[in-house]
Amino acid sequence: MYGKKMIKANFHTHTTWCDGKDTPEAVIQSAIKKGFSAIGFSSHAMLPENLLDWVLVPGKAEAYADEIRFLAKKYSDKIKVYCGVEADYVPGGATPDRSTYISIKPDYIIGSVHFVKAPDGSSVAVDLSPEDLLKGIEEHFSGSVEAYIRSYFAQEREMVTNFDFDIVGHPDLVRKFNLKSPYFDENSPWYIEELVKTADAIAESGKIVEVNTGAISRGWLDDAYPSLAFRDLLRERGVKFILNSDAHTADAIDCAFDRFNSSEEWINFHNFAPLKH
Ligand SMILES: [Zn+2]
Ligand SMILES: [Zn+2]
Repeated sequence: MYGKKMIKANFHTHTTWCDGKDTPEAVIQSAIKKGFSAIGFSSHAMLPENLLDWVLVPGKAEAYADEIRFLAKKYSDKIKVYCGVEADYVPGGATPDRSTYISIKPDYIIGSVHFVKAPDGSSVAVDLSPEDLLKGIEEHFSGSVEAYIRSYFAQEREMVTNFDFDIVGHPDLVRKFNLKSPYFDENSPWYIEELVKTADAIAESGKIVEVNTGAISRGWLDDAYPSLAFRDLLRERGVKFILNSDAHTADAIDCAFDRFNSSEEWINFHNFAPLKH
C-alpha cells in the first residue's frame, strides 16, 4: 500500500531551468504539501556537446546546481532535496557519464535517449511529435520503423554498458506515440527480441530502471515506461525500480503513483547508493 511500503519521493522532475513550467522552489513546496520525504531535480542536460538551447550547458549547469543546493539547505528541516540531471546520450555528442558532469557533482544521473543516431549521421527526435517522428524515419531510416526502433534499443544498450550513471530513464520511450498514433506492433517478435536484449544489458550493468509515469500525465499513454511486458523481463533479471513521474509541473510530481506503488521491487531512496552521503 502506498505510504506503508514506499516512501514518497520522485527523482525525475523538470523546472524552468529546462522545459518545466514551475520553479524548483514551487516544486519543493508542492512536494512538502503532498507529504514527500524527498524530491530530486533532473534538468535536461547535454554535455559536452550541446544540441539544444533549453538544456543545461556549461555555466548554466553550475548556476542550476547552486540554486538547487541553496534550496536544499533552506528546506532541509522539511524535505530532502537532491540535485541530479537527466543526461542525454547522443553518440558522438552528449555522454551521460559522471566524468562529464564533474563541475556540478550531481547527486545522481538519469541516462536517457531522446535522439536516435541514423546511419547517415543525423539525429531523429524520439518524442517531439508523431509527425516529426514519421518524417525522421522516412528521411533517415528509409521508412523502416523496425530499423529505427532497433537502432534506438542498440543505443540504449550502448548507453547502459558504456557510461557511469545511475537510473535508466524511460527505456522504451519509442512507445510514446504508439497508443494515439500506432506505428508498430509491440507484440511483434523483433520488438520482443529488442526488449530481451536490452533487459539483459541493463541487468548486466547493475543500473536501476525508473518506472516513469510522464506519458500518463501528458495524456500520451495509459501505462508507464517501461511497459508491463518490459517490466516483467527486467524483474525476472533482478533489476530494481524507482518510481518517477518525469514531472514538468509542480502538480504532476506524483501523477499516477497510486497505480504503481505495490507491484514492483522498489528501491527505497535511503538505500539508493548515489544518495548515501
Ligand atoms: Zn526524458
Ligand atoms: Zn525527463
